[in-house]
Amino acid sequence: MGVLSKLHPLRSHSGAAQGGINAALDPKDSVKDHVYDTVKGSDYLADQDAAEILCKEAGPTVIEMEHMGTIFNRAPDGSLDRRAFGGASYNRTIYAADRTGLALLQALYEEVGRDRKIRVYEEWDAIDLIVRDGRVQGVVAMERKSGHIEGFAAKAVVLATGPAGRIYGKTTNSHESTGDGCALAYRAGAFLKDMEFVQFHPTCLPHTSILITEGARGEGGILRNAKGERFMERYAPHFKELASRDVVSRAIVTEVREGRGFPDGTVRLELMHLGKEKVESKLQEIVSYSRTFAGIDPVVEGIPVFPAQHYMMGGISTNPKAETNISGLYAAGEAACVSVHGANRLGANSLLETLVYGKIAGQNAAAYAKTATASTLSQADVEASQNTVHALLERKDGETPAKIRTEMQSTMDELVGVYRHPDDLINAITRISQLKVRYTKCIVTDKSTTFNLNLIEAIELGHMLDLAEVIVAGALARTESRGAHVRTDYPKRDDQKWMRHTLASVTKEGPNLTYLPVTVTEFQPKERAY
Ligand SMILES: Cc1cc2nc3c(=O)[nH]c(=O)nc-3n(C[C@H](O)[C@H](O)[C@H](O)COP(=O)(O)OP(=O)(O)OC[C@H]3O[C@@H](n4cnc5c(N)ncnc54)[C@H](O)[C@@H]3O)c2cc1C
Repeated sequence: MGVLSKLHPLRSHSGAAQGGINAALDPKDSVKDHVYDTVKGSDYLADQDAAEILCKEAGPTVIEMEHMGTIFNRAPDGSLDRRAFGGASYNRTIYAADRTGLALLQALYEEVGRDRKIRVYEEWDAIDLIVRDGRVQGVVAMERKSGHIEGFAAKAVVLATGPAGRIYGKTTNSHESTGDGCALAYRAGAFLKDMEFVQFHPTCLPHTSILITEGARGEGGILRNAKGERFMERYAPHFKELASRDVVSRAIVTEVREGRGFPDGTVRLELMHLGKEKVESKLQEIVSYSRTFAGIDPVVEGIPVFPAQHYMMGGISTNPKAETNISGLYAAGEAACVSVHGANRLGANSLLETLVYGKIAGQNAAAYAKTATASTLSQADVEASQNTVHALLERKDGETPAKIRTEMQSTMDELVGVYRHPDDLINAITRISQLKVRYTKCIVTDKSTTFNLNLIEAIELGHMLDLAEVIVAGALARTESRGAHVRTDYPKRDDQKWMRHTLASVTKEGPNLTYLPVTVTEFQPKERAY
């Protein structure tokens, strides 16, 4: 088995995850409550059968990771400590200080290192997914170190390529979060599901958009506007700061728009009342980020915060077996949409999804590979990818990808944000399609074959433009407000018409949208209040 990663695996975005991972491990908590919170958080768009698997497997998964070597925080009685998190009716977020993702990633990667049957190809970018005869045949990839392009024949492929947040300029996601797997799958004929649902995290530092974990509010952090008001009391009287992310993000944007923000266009997240010892031990990274990147000390003053893009609820459409519509192609993690997060993801449910559905994808891909016939990936497939890359490198005049990327990001920041106006969305579609035309003529100025990041950025930009187009098309078509998707002209949720998933498939004219019913098992949709 081969694992291909464009980064050293420990540099994956999962390593930036701070706050924790949800599991109903306490005897007073229940899997059913976790499912309910997840479905309510999703604004009833989650497929409830998929959410049930997620929450049922949560406890065993966290314990398996603990046995594998993840060092979680402990409560005084020695049990796994838990903190409060947004939209959760019970404190069920297990954590390792404010670097939970890194702790999980390290334990998992060490396990991979122990297994001699797994070969890891570090710093290889998959640039094409080959699908023929109705099934996947493998990928074509480029080695960063040498620029060498090679075919990787495979009976089954699992795409776990992570986030696409860099489509936006203001994002908490790492620079490598460019949605490659989603774009490769889409181009090869896979459906993308619910791409219009983009999560904005309420508390990010201005300018850098560095995330201040929800764990900070879970530990008791309070939001205040410039008038000193704890404004969340008005928007979510019961959950206050720990309402779900879409609710808190809208509240902050509204406070600032209505003139109650600070002059720098932010509100404040206060931790001072928690005391120096708690803040510096449980939120070490947050203290360091605030001091380094915002020049403030959260032990004595409020942190300036504003929402930024954080998570894509949408992704490669899969069923609860992690299968896509292409035989032999599986997807899991943020690149996939099964869908457990529906229209709005709850914090600390995503690390959980990567592990639960990652395992399901791996098991089912292995079973499929056992019975499938050999792959037909050929030299012609590799040459086709080589020709595309050479054409990019040989072009002598044109714009740089950086210029097009900056325009794409500002288009998405300004026109496809927390609140969506129909005119803005129409404008965004026009701008993205113009950028796509300009992209076909962009140049790569660095012609070298060694660590040519200029070339890689150009390839990644192509992926992001395709996905941006799908996000905007889905947002324009969905004439309702649900979870993170809020249309100013359709402010209400419309269950009659829109209890359904958007599926986008590629055509020469752009994305073709069709719809799929939502699976409801136990929880009938009702109005969401926090
Ligand atoms: C700052 C931050 C904090 C977060 N905090 C939390 C939290 O506390 N709790 C929680 O549940 N969730 C959190 N999330 C969300 C969660 O971390 C992510 O959704 C999740 O970690 C994504 O995992 P993944 O495995 O899907 O992707 P990643 O961890 O990004 O891994 C993707 C992998 O795919 C590889 N790859 C990508 N493209 C290619 C290509 N073309 N070719 C080859 N390899 C490729 C990359 O090299 C990488 O190894 C946070 C997210 C961010 C950004």
